[in-house]
Amino acid sequence: MKMDRATDLRPQTQSLASRYSGKTVVAIGAHPDDLEIGIGGTLAKLRRDGARVVMVVASIPKDFDVRFEEAKRGAEILGCEMRLLLDGGARRLEDVKTCDLVGMLDGVIKEYRPAAVLTHSNADFHNDHLLIYNACLPTQRLAHFDFFSYHPTNCRPVPVQFHPRAYVDVSDTIDAKMHAIAAHASQFGGRGLDTEMYREFAHMQGRMVGVPYAEGLDVNRMLLS
Ligand SMILES: [Zn+2]
Repeated sequence: MKMDRATDLRPQTQSLASRYSGKTVVAIGAHPDDLEIGIGGTLAKLRRDGARVVMVVASIPKDFDVRFEEAKRGAEILGCEMRLLLDGGARRLEDVKTCDLVGMLDGVIKEYRPAAVLTHSNADFHNDHLLIYNACLPTQRLAHFDFFSYHPTNCRPVPVQFHPRAYVDVSDTIDAKMHAIAAHASQFGGRGLDTEMYREFAHMQGRMVGVPYAEGLDVNRMLLS
């Protein structure tokens, strides 16, 4: 049997999207814009391929109304649902006890029963991001979801020690990612910051795996059957 070369090299059954089609994926970020920057392309792809994708924004530290609207718009562009974890106005993560934060994230896991959870990594340098990563770790005891971390997210690039173990081809969704990042105007356009570095970074990640654009993930836990 003659096989198409591209099909031979990239079987659809091993794609991230087909793995989670018809299932729920929960993505957790400390602030509005973290998820768009870290895995906007991945989330849009998962949604387009039939997963239910819930973007959990843990906190809005200030400028609540503006940033809440930006978060809703960013999720809408990616086709995902958005949920705010610390509701009731502007709140800072460091004011919440770790046990309470774990309890809230436990609630998210119990409610959505996700097939996969994606969150910050321990390579991040922002303390809020580390708080979320550390609070997500114990939720693994509740269910056997796949668990991934995304590249440290920031508005201005700094050196970090992050080593992806898996890459998601986001060539079809890079424009949605860029559009969703731009929705956070208070963080970028409003401060004179350019978002083009995220496209360049995805392009560089793509070069690692032979596709136009990619997002790298660290694999904390994943079941291969
Ligand atoms: Zn953040």
